[in-house]
Amino acid sequence: MIMKAVVYEGPKSVTVTDVPDARIEKPTDVLVRITSTNICGSDLHMYEGRTDFETGRWFGHENLGHVVEVGPGVDKIAVGDWVVLPFNVACGHCKNCERGLTNYCLTAQPEKAWAGAAFGFADMGPWPGGQAELLRVPWGDFNCLRLGEDAEEKQTDYVMLADIFPTGYHATELAHVSPGDQTVIYGAGPVGWMAAYSAILKGAGKVMVVDRHPDRLKKIEEIGAIPIDDSTVDPVEAVLDLTMGLGADNGCECVGYQAHDHDGTEQPNLTLNRLVKSVRFTGALGVVGVYVPQDPGGVDDLAKQGIVPFDFGEFWFRGQALGSGQCPVKKYNRPLRDLIAGGKATPSQVVSHELPLEQAPEAYEHFDNRDDGWTKVVLHPAYT
Ligand SMILES: [Zn+2]
Ligand SMILES: [Zn+2]
Repeated sequence: MIMKAVVYEGPKSVTVTDVPDARIEKPTDVLVRITSTNICGSDLHMYEGRTDFETGRWFGHENLGHVVEVGPGVDKIAVGDWVVLPFNVACGHCKNCERGLTNYCLTAQPEKAWAGAAFGFADMGPWPGGQAELLRVPWGDFNCLRLGEDAEEKQTDYVMLADIFPTGYHATELAHVSPGDQTVIYGAGPVGWMAAYSAILKGAGKVMVVDRHPDRLKKIEEIGAIPIDDSTVDPVEAVLDLTMGLGADNGCECVGYQAHDHDGTEQPNLTLNRLVKSVRFTGALGVVGVYVPQDPGGVDDLAKQGIVPFDFGEFWFRGQALGSGQCPVKKYNRPLRDLIAGGKATPSQVVSHELPLEQAPEAYEHFDNRDDGWTKVVLHPAYT
């Protein structure tokens, strides 16, 4: 049997082509027919050839579908269940998983000195992605989150539980966002939007979001956050003006190492250093934007080694705290699922396009170009 998948061919090139079917390989595997799979900003780092993602593999770490087969060692998950999968692949029984740190699983990552694994992701283990008709889910009982009767109808909301809704929420947890807080968020891409949305759900008093794309800033305004356009104003000054000169209580970085100024010049430290100056003394920073240990396409020698000139003096002087890294999705996906089920959260608001899998190549191109109106793409592989 062969299935369709969005295969990486090299920088800025993907094609929808036939690959061998995903299948049950171990007794604890679950096989999922994918019905919703998102294109993520972190796919774009790989798509642009800015990672060592191998050609011939396929992307897709934000996946939802229904179960079509389970291995003989699976107890809880059954054929017919609708499930959403965390982007993290995790075993459930290693030292880190036992502490809830499924983002740093030691079993699913084959490189001994590293930790953490993901579906369809550079350096995160051998696991194929879900931008395909079928997905093999290892340790299926642990990794599958079951959905209720509204799963199919609300799948565009629930699929956001695979990554960006928990990741945005995690940014606000790292930043200790609490009711009444004034919070600044750098980046109004899908994760920045989710961080703003999460801060608002938590009862933040004022949420300010820095970006420069009008379509993104408009989506930010729609949820009651304050857009700051850094192509027209100094964002640090703007945040200080909105906080009586003190700076925000806390802040989130949702941009990552390909940060660039408004004329397009890449500057990996740009948002980090602006964030430090935008947050008041003793405030906390949550950094979920992606940074990498090596970046072959980096703008200079330091960037190529993953070294970011961080304004540590200013950071230390302010007594700030910083949390970083990928999100342990399982820590949040169950309560966030129940917010969706209860009608209290509709993260699909961020979605601009829902397309069949076949249109992935053009979707990648538009999303990568940050073309106006392409804020978030959900692909729907055909299914019966
Ligand atoms: Zn993602
Ligand atoms: Zn583990």
